[in-house]
Amino acid sequence: MPEEPTASPDTVLRPASAGELARLLREARGGPGLSPRGAGSQWARWGRLPAVGLDLRALPAEPRLSAANLTVTVPAWWRLHQLDALLAPHGLWYPVDAGDGGAATVGGHVAAATAGIRRTGLGPARDWVLGVLAVLPDGREVRPGGEMIKNVAGYNVHRVLVGSLGMLAVLVEVSLRIAPRPERHVTLRARFETPAAAWAALSPLRRQASTLVAAEWLRAGPGVEVLLAFEGPTRAVEHQSGAAAQELRRAAGLAPGTGDGVELAGGDGAAALWNARRERLFGPAVLRLRAGVRPSELPRLWSDAAEVLAGRAWDGIARGYGGVLEIVIPAGSEPPGGAGEPDAPAGLVPAVQELRRRAEALGGYLQVRGAPPGSLGDLPWTAPSPDGHLHRRLKAVFDPDGVLAGAAFLLPEPGGPAPAMAASETVHAKGGSAGGRV
Ligand SMILES: Cc1cc2nc3c(=O)[nH]c(=O)nc-3n(C[C@H](O)[C@H](O)[C@H](O)COP(=O)(O)OP(=O)(O)OC[C@H]3O[C@@H](n4cnc5c(N)ncnc54)[C@H](O)[C@@H]3O)c2cc1C
Repeated sequence: MPEEPTASPDTVLRPASAGELARLLREARGGPGLSPRGAGSQWARWGRLPAVGLDLRALPAEPRLSAANLTVTVPAWWRLHQLDALLAPHGLWYPVDAGDGGAATVGGHVAAATAGIRRTGLGPARDWVLGVLAVLPDGREVRPGGEMIKNVAGYNVHRVLVGSLGMLAVLVEVSLRIAPRPERHVTLRARFETPAAAWAALSPLRRQASTLVAAEWLRAGPGVEVLLAFEGPTRAVEHQSGAAAQELRRAAGLAPGTGDGVELAGGDGAAALWNARRERLFGPAVLRLRAGVRPSELPRLWSDAAEVLAGRAWDGIARGYGGVLEIVIPAGSEPPGGAGEPDAPAGLVPAVQELRRRAEALGGYLQVRGAPPGSLGDLPWTAPSPDGHLHRRLKAVFDPDGVLAGAAFLLPEPGGPAPAMAASETVHAKGGSAGGRV
């Protein structure tokens, strides 16, 4: 399990106390912008390095577990596997699987709002965050939310920080809801001839199986392989996964030539299936895209991707009940026609634009989630959006001096109907830096 960031920026600041962190933030005004850094895994996927990283590992750590209340407070720089080691002896866990075997930091996971495979059953990461201790870009400490299940007066400000990608505040401590570890896990694997057949067979299951926590689709030629995870009390998991298997065996469109097309696995067998999915999603890539639509439109989006990327080596990994399709163009793959040169992101720009157009025509979106710097020209990672001005205003409220650069390239520019924004309203961000885009 990697303990060091995957790659490091040239300059890394390591405050050893809250006071020093506040001072570093105040002194950063007018600089290139600081980026809080966890394990660096998201940065690696984006294909970027922050100009100046802020490493929090030297800050004092004081974890607080309340097993009776199912809550825990941990330093933001803790790895998820450290959190698991604290909880496991109590029969507890933090079930939001960030997908990297526990290498992500709690702060990085919360700031990136990575929900992992169990989002289907357990909801988004922000539902599990009770509160944070954060330091604002002007050095002030704030504690939005708290350490209890229901304790917020006014707006849920801590929820704004979940997914803020290091652009609004530095998370120092995070309070989380936790849960009893499930007694049993079963993974069901089924292969379908087409994405439409998969959707037709799977959509009724969700209403019937309370222990169904994850539903992922993986590209398998023209069809899809589906992984369903069932977790909870042993009897319920065995009954519901068995019933789902029977239901799917009756479904039309199962791919032939794979036994009866449906397999059940627990223990190491299940872990191997999920590890294989992780490797496909996070293998070396020249381009990563994420498209989202209403779940019922996923088969259509999938077919559109197959059409637009025809002839290219591409992989598709989707959250079936979430309508989110991750597209990976693996490193070293050849463009259509086998020109002999590996696919480069620049040659993929027309395909990305066409896919974005099609996703938007379905009422959805398409984001670039990883590409080498400069390789996509002016193509924005996220399409302009009518709420882009809100992102700018939020940034201006939290960080008027543009101290935190974070991952601003992911934010949408204002677009669509122009909101009433006073001409005098200025976002104090540095042109050309990440802060200049928000
Ligand atoms: C092998 C592998 C498998 C993965 N599988 C999945 C998966 O299945 N599903 C999924 O959703 N994700 C998955 N991920 C992504 C992974 O979960 C995220 O990369 C992770 O949650 C981010 O944590 P990090 O510590 O690496 O953050 P970093 O990459 O270091 O940072 C992420 C963002 O958070 C900001 N940030 C970091 N720390 C703080 C802080 N203390 N305060 C404020 N901002 C901060 C950074 O500036 C940056 O914008 C996988 C990653 C890997 C490497």
